[in-house]
Amino acid sequence: MPPESNLAAALAPLDYQPRTRVVFGVNSLERVGELATSLSAKRVLLVTDRGIVAAGHAGRVQALLEAAGMEVTCFEQVQENPTTRCVERCVEVARGAAIDTIVGLGGGSSMDTAKGCNFILTNGGQMKDYRGIGRATRPMLPLLAIPTTGGTGSECQSFALIADEQTHQKMACGDPKAAARIALLDPALTLSQPARVTACTGIDALAHALETLVTKPRTPLSLIFSREAFRLAIAGLPRVLASPADLEARGWMLLGAAWAGTAIENSMLGAAHALANPLTAHFGVVHGHAVGMMLPHVVRFNARDPVAARAYAEVSCAAQLALPSESPEAAAERLAERLESLLDLAGLPRTLEHCGVKPNDLPRLADEAARQWTAQFNPRTVTANDFQQLYTAALPPA
Ligand SMILES: [Zn+2]
Repeated sequence: MPPESNLAAALAPLDYQPRTRVVFGVNSLERVGELATSLSAKRVLLVTDRGIVAAGHAGRVQALLEAAGMEVTCFEQVQENPTTRCVERCVEVARGAAIDTIVGLGGGSSMDTAKGCNFILTNGGQMKDYRGIGRATRPMLPLLAIPTTGGTGSECQSFALIADEQTHQKMACGDPKAAARIALLDPALTLSQPARVTACTGIDALAHALETLVTKPRTPLSLIFSREAFRLAIAGLPRVLASPADLEARGWMLLGAAWAGTAIENSMLGAAHALANPLTAHFGVVHGHAVGMMLPHVVRFNARDPVAARAYAEVSCAAQLALPSESPEAAAERLAERLESLLDLAGLPRTLEHCGVKPNDLPRLADEAARQWTAQFNPRTVTANDFQQLYTAALPPA
């Protein structure tokens, strides 16, 4: 980026109030009792899924909270891509126990369910009432978020993504009050992720870093988080794929995911996420995989915008994927190629055809992608025709 544009960016006004205290460290889970006490917790709802219970994490958190003098009620029925029904069940359990604090433990789905429950429990109504930003009028309960994947970065965002029970369309329900008060990041917890979860959530974190790097609402501040998230994830992902027990790289992924989530909070997401949601809704493609298949094509599409190409080139050169002597467009292409090779490394199919998508499905998918909330934030305007071309590029076998 030329020095004069850096200077202009440095003079842009900003108003930044971090909403979430971030506590990071190996075995920092031991501090959960002390941290919950700082939120004045007495009766805690622990929101998690059965896999996390089976891994022993839920029992450990419950024991640590009880040792700190709290009553703990566990809701362990969180599903992947949680629906309005899942949230309603969680609310029933929360009401029955008259809770004062929520602890979300698990992947993005546990965080989303915990936040969704918080909306309904404190503000009443249904999830659809909170679609958009800032529609909750009453205070919400304190939320302590403990991710076990690295990850969605949901612990550093104020959005709950809840799917409609009937249509499976995801609703983004955001409110500053829904953000976790504390995100407790313990890399040791992420060692239990199955290989496929490591791959899909890691690629999602990388995608969050790259989408937020170029979106229209990006700010000089969100760019700090996007760049650092990318630096950590591009180095960490190949290492955790090759060596699942690599605690240092697990830490990079966990922290990178949290910073990428922080970037999303300030700069939203772009076309790769708009393209991914219909693939998840209609073909059951796991979110991170769907995003990962579409992202290289979105990078190429966005790189036709000179500002986006320079942003991609900057991180591509910093990660030594491209040389500073290369043109921004060539450096962006190196980045797209690296993203494709990471899918190969993760053992994830790169093409939509592998996921059962047929050419005649594309017009309907493109139409839905164009109606996704995140589409509007992409640096280049994306029409339904562009979305169809992006899907077409991802369709054939490599
Ligand atoms: Zn994502």
